[in-house]
Amino acid sequence: MKWGIFMNIIFVCVVLAEMFCLAVCACKAFKGKNNLAKFIALYESMVVICAASVLGCYFVKNTNMAMLFRGIMLSCFDWLVMLLIFYTEFYTKVFRTHRIIKIILSLYCLADTIMLISNPWNEIMFPVKDMMCDGIVYQFTQTGLLMRIHYIFNYVGILLVMLVFGIKMIKTSRFYRIRYKWIFSSLVAANVINIMVTGTNYLYDVSVAAYGLMSILIYYYSLDYIPNEIIENTLSLIIKDMNCGIICFDNNGRCLYISDILCDIYDKHLNKGNAQDYYKMWMAKNDSSDSESFRFEIQMEICDDKRIYEVVYKKVYDEDNNFICDYFIFNDRSAQIQSYEREKYRATHDSLTGLYNRENFFVEVRELIERNPDVDYSMICSNIKDFKLINELFGLQKGDEILIKQSRIMNDLVLSGGVYGRIQGDRYALCMPTRLIREQLILTSIQQMQKEFLDTSFHLHVMVGIYNIKDSGEAISSMVDKANIAAETIRNNYQRNIAYYDAKLFEKSVEERLIIGEFENAIENNRFVMYLQPQAAEDGTIYGAEALVRWEHPERGLLFPGAFIDVLEKTGLVYKLDMYIWNLAAKKLKEWKEIGREDLYISVNISARDFYFINIYQIFKNLIEKYNINPVNLKLEITETALMSDFEKNMRVIHKLQDFGFKIEIDDFGSGYSSLNMLKDISADVLKIDMGFLRQSENESKGRDILESVINLAGKIGMEVITEGVETEEQLKMLTGMGCKMFQGYYFSKPIPVREFEAKYSIQ
Ligand code: C2E
Ligand code: CA
Ligand code: CA
Repeated sequence: MKWGIFMNIIFVCVVLAEMFCLAVCACKAFKGKNNLAKFIALYESMVVICAASVLGCYFVKNTNMAMLFRGIMLSCFDWLVMLLIFYTEFYTKVFRTHRIIKIILSLYCLADTIMLISNPWNEIMFPVKDMMCDGIVYQFTQTGLLMRIHYIFNYVGILLVMLVFGIKMIKTSRFYRIRYKWIFSSLVAANVINIMVTGTNYLYDVSVAAYGLMSILIYYYSLDYIPNEIIENTLSLIIKDMNCGIICFDNNGRCLYISDILCDIYDKHLNKGNAQDYYKMWMAKNDSSDSESFRFEIQMEICDDKRIYEVVYKKVYDEDNNFICDYFIFNDRSAQIQSYEREKYRATHDSLTGLYNRENFFVEVRELIERNPDVDYSMICSNIKDFKLINELFGLQKGDEILIKQSRIMNDLVLSGGVYGRIQGDRYALCMPTRLIREQLILTSIQQMQKEFLDTSFHLHVMVGIYNIKDSGEAISSMVDKANIAAETIRNNYQRNIAYYDAKLFEKSVEERLIIGEFENAIENNRFVMYLQPQAAEDGTIYGAEALVRWEHPERGLLFPGAFIDVLEKTGLVYKLDMYIWNLAAKKLKEWKEIGREDLYISVNISARDFYFINIYQIFKNLIEKYNINPVNLKLEITETALMSDFEKNMRVIHKLQDFGFKIEIDDFGSGYSSLNMLKDISADVLKIDMGFLRQSENESKGRDILESVINLAGKIGMEVITEGVETEEQLKMLTGMGCKMFQGYYFSKPIPVREFEAKYSIQ
């Protein structure tokens, strides 16, 4: 009997202790904000009620009351199983219960609860008799169907829960397996105990204690338990994910932790054993006064790949300011640095050739010169004549190829100690020590480029200008300008590829700039005037005149075309001047027509660039219509080279002009690359031969023979011939002897102002 009381006390104490723990768990869970906590709170509360009803069964002497508690206890099981199912669903997410099933389950629990609680009075579930032993309810006969359903519901529910936890335990990450393992184990243990107790009719329902313990474990593992292993593992995974290396040391300088990435960075040479050596090495990089935190950069070679790490050092203190640990974080900045480098490269280099661009070339040259104050440097600039034509004739790809080739040549030219870049378009610049310049090398390079066009009729003319830098403090842009000025001087000289800068060139370029600056104003103020030079027969009777422009400059006096035509052609402004003179000529022809001198003509000059900038045909047609003159009286002088720039297109224009009635003269025949063969392709009306052609010739008698043949040939193909530059009577006689009938030259008259011309030849 004493033993029985002792067992009672133990049993009650255990149940009370558990109830207390469960109540605490329930309270804590109720404070939780998420649904899981709410489920667990409900579940734990239900377990408390269940345990209380168990105690009720033991201490209440009244059979009906004991049966009532028993009923409450059994119905608690229903609710517990249902809450357990919902909790399992929510916690494991292995299955989903349909809302209707949830409602059915709840309704069943409610019905079962009502039936179990009312059982003492209606005995619908089980009979009350034979249920008391020594005043304690411990058993009842399980005969009723409803009671069987109750048990089936309970055990099937529990089995389902166990099954789900079993699956979860296998499937989940090893980090979290421990949670499911404990809940699963406690479920199994509690149910095994329950079956044993039920099977053996043991007086004390020890399973109550087992379920209680299981419920505490559920609370603990679901809400409270975060094992260090999980913290460590997840943190190290996060660190890994952050893609940075971490190493941490305690207050004695002992290594606490090294991330895998850091081990990899040091190719596994770094470990906890030798970490202190590395610590000293890294700490030595601190060049700031702050020892609490600092940063530095480290370069490492990993699998032949150069990587750059930004390392941050920091100390950690607790809330009382006691030193706890310090750590280094290695951030891989290679990608960022590479993209920065790429960006920098893009901003400083030319995308096509990879050479320095203009701005960066200037910076590099300045640095080069300043680094070597004792070295004499030269600026070399190259430019391709009519590069635009290469693009137009051979396509952009060919143009690009030539540019790339030129950039490679630059590289070959700089033997050592030079800087080069692409300044703009087809303009390249190179700064190198003067003593290293080899003209022959430059010429060979140019020949290499010219080879690209060997099987075409295009002549690639590369102009190279060299400026020996006198003053190292001079602006780089000015050095480049000077080299370019030198290059420009050989623009039309196909025999030369290299030109040196001298001060006179600079003066010329200043002069050119002056002309460009004053040009528009001069046109507006009618500062350009037309001079006329007669074109005459042997006896001096005139056929007409050539219009030659003069600039009446307010300060510099009368300027000849040689002083300004070239620069106006270079800048493309010449068409404005030509249109101005053409208009004066047409106007004069109208005046002559009105006074009955329609027999006289005026020849005007057309520049090569005019074809490029204006619609020549339309402009001349308009002039004829505006002044109502005969197009035969306005002759057009064009040089062969002007036609050659775009032969087919220009010939189309010429034919249109001829169809309209204009007469075309080939000017300066014999001064350029004239070829007799070309005459058959150009259907001009007049061939104008320059006497200078004869003067230049080394062998005068040979020159005369050629001149005579040309005059004859022209006559045979139906072209008139006029010789210009006739200065002496002998020349006149000689040319007459050769069959030439028209002449122009100082022998007859220099170009003179229109009024003078009209007076001299009585055109009134
Ligand atoms: P060009 O068309 O060959 O004109 C003939 C040039 O030879 C003129 O020079 C004329 O003064 C010069 N000349 C005439 N007879 C003799 C002579 O017996 N001996 C020598 N040594 N020279 C003689 P100018 O007027 O200085 O013109 C030079 C060039 O300027 C012209 O050569 C022409 O190409 C260009 N030019 C003149 N006026 C115009 C114009 O209105 N428009 C364009 N685009 N060019 C023009
Ligand atoms: Ca002319
Ligand atoms: Ca001429």
